[in-house]
Amino acid sequence: MTEPRPTATGTTYRRVLLKISGEALMGDTKFGLHPPTVQRIAHEVQTVHEMGVEICMVIGGGNIFRGLQGSAQGMERTTADYMGMLATVMNALAMQSALEELGVHTRVISAIPMDQVCEPYIRRRAVRHLEKKRVCIFAAGTGNPYFTTDTAATLRASEMTCEAIFMGKKGVDGVYDSDPLTNPDAKRFDRITYDDVLMKNLKVMDASAIALARDNKLPIVVFSLDEPGGFRGILAGQGTYTVVHG
Ligand code: UDP
Repeated sequence: MTEPRPTATGTTYRRVLLKISGEALMGDTKFGLHPPTVQRIAHEVQTVHEMGVEICMVIGGGNIFRGLQGSAQGMERTTADYMGMLATVMNALAMQSALEELGVHTRVISAIPMDQVCEPYIRRRAVRHLEKKRVCIFAAGTGNPYFTTDTAATLRASEMTCEAIFMGKKGVDGVYDSDPLTNPDAKRFDRITYDDVLMKNLKVMDASAIALARDNKLPIVVFSLDEPGGFRGILAGQGTYTVVHG
């Protein structure tokens, strides 16, 4: 992992990956995309982009389709997973549109080639986009069924030599020892190790993603995306969050 070096604008981070779930784009609706929420998150990304930080993004697809749901309803699992991956491409395109509306140059890069829609994933090309300060949204997960976008986020963050993964959560500002939405006594960790997350079965990311982050010594910063300016604040070391580390 590359050592963070200070930038002119108050953060030690040079290149990061922001992971958000598809559900974070739903706002208060029950399905799909809520354009004002997409625009709000795009604005959060824009403020960090203005700090000079290079930004990768991975967006889930759970607001549209999850493979497990499809297979529970009798669909073949791999087909259902491909549908889930296609859902992430739709979310990525929506985010690209919102970011470009704000003047932030953005590329959608898909693990499954679909040339008329977005770029295929070519690592060196993606690195070049980042160096040119374009936001790169990695879509279609890892391109393989039986994985999730959490694993895709860890994989791409490692390949792009990001210094950390930022998990922007809806309704929760870190990792707790139990669900803070149902248990008012739930305790938030400031820092926790990968092994403790796995041992305690805490819901940060799925286990394969945590193990991959551990093996690549990639810190995971869990924070709330609900606070305006939250992402920028966290990058400057302010606000509440949990760091998952080695
Ligand atoms: N998916 C997959 N392989 C991947 C990434 C995603 O098969 O590498 C499928 C899987 O069916 C998953 C869906 O895409 O349920 C949506 O991704 P995810 O559940 O990670 O979205 P999130 O929960 O973050 O919204």
